[in-house]
Amino acid sequence: MKLAILSRAPRAYSTQRLRTAALDRGHQVRVLNTLRFAIDLSGPEPDLQFRGRPISDYDAILPRIGSSITYFGTAVVRQFEQMDVYTPNIANGISNARDKLRAAQILSRHNIGMPATTFVRNRADVMPAIERVGGAPVVIKLLEGTQGIGVILAPEIKIAEAIIETLHSTNQNVLIQSFVSESKGRDIRALVVGDRVVAAMRRRAKGDEFRSNVHRGGTVEPAELSPEYEQAAVRSAQIMGLRVAGVDMLEGNEGPLVMEVNSSPGLEGIEMATKLDVAGAIVDYIAGQVAFPEIDVRQR
Ligand code: ADP
Repeated sequence: MKLAILSRAPRAYSTQRLRTAALDRGHQVRVLNTLRFAIDLSGPEPDLQFRGRPISDYDAILPRIGSSITYFGTAVVRQFEQMDVYTPNIANGISNARDKLRAAQILSRHNIGMPATTFVRNRADVMPAIERVGGAPVVIKLLEGTQGIGVILAPEIKIAEAIIETLHSTNQNVLIQSFVSESKGRDIRALVVGDRVVAAMRRRAKGDEFRSNVHRGGTVEPAELSPEYEQAAVRSAQIMGLRVAGVDMLEGNEGPLVMEVNSSPGLEGIEMATKLDVAGAIVDYIAGQVAFPEIDVRQR
């Protein structure tokens, strides 16, 4: 197949691994800078230019859209969809996953376990909202934070209220979420490709930190997932509209609690932790969909 990886980071570990995995399997592959596309809407047929020239025929794209270019990036992906080029992650799926509130709203309709979460704006509604999710300690999250930045654990209700009011006063929207203390600074990252989990790892927060993000000093180890966790991960990704996703789950007393679905999951941590060829699994899945599109009922 002829594959385009949409990425602004050609030298990043994930991009390099995906490119190499495609070449090793005899595919043609190009890494295209997402910001160098032009979406031309004047003609009768959907069209795309890349670096000022009409784009050649691709069988599939693999979008790796960073959060700073969500709007433009998803517009490019949507244009490829209109041109009938296969993408494992559709534009709507990427947008859904990017916003923690929108993601939680969608998942909450499908019986997926999640930490109790609420969203308010008026000052008078803050205190009752904190009480509703179980009181302090309580987690406060910026809607579009990544790498653990913008995720705060407030130890007392008064402090939580002050933080939320401060963020509101600077026009930032925040989620209020119950603190899942039993997960003890650990979480699970499941890498979903198609209808299965191809790799999973457990991340542990450093010291007394509650955020297990590697960027916050967390460590990783391979994890064996029970069918319950695998199902929660696969269903969450599919409900969002993503066939390649990193699903983050807390280990709650009653089973998996999905926190987040990432549409451009990094491959370095999970490949290092598990020694599995995740990049190869992603490329093989895309090649399978290009060759046998009838198997994927969602796209065609
Ligand atoms: P980001 O998108 O910035 O990684 P997350 O929502 O995934 O933000 O939160 C970062 C980390 O904080 C998680 O990996 C997890 O370890 C911890 N965490 C987040 N929410 C909760 C919660 N409700 N209870 C306990 N720990 C949490």
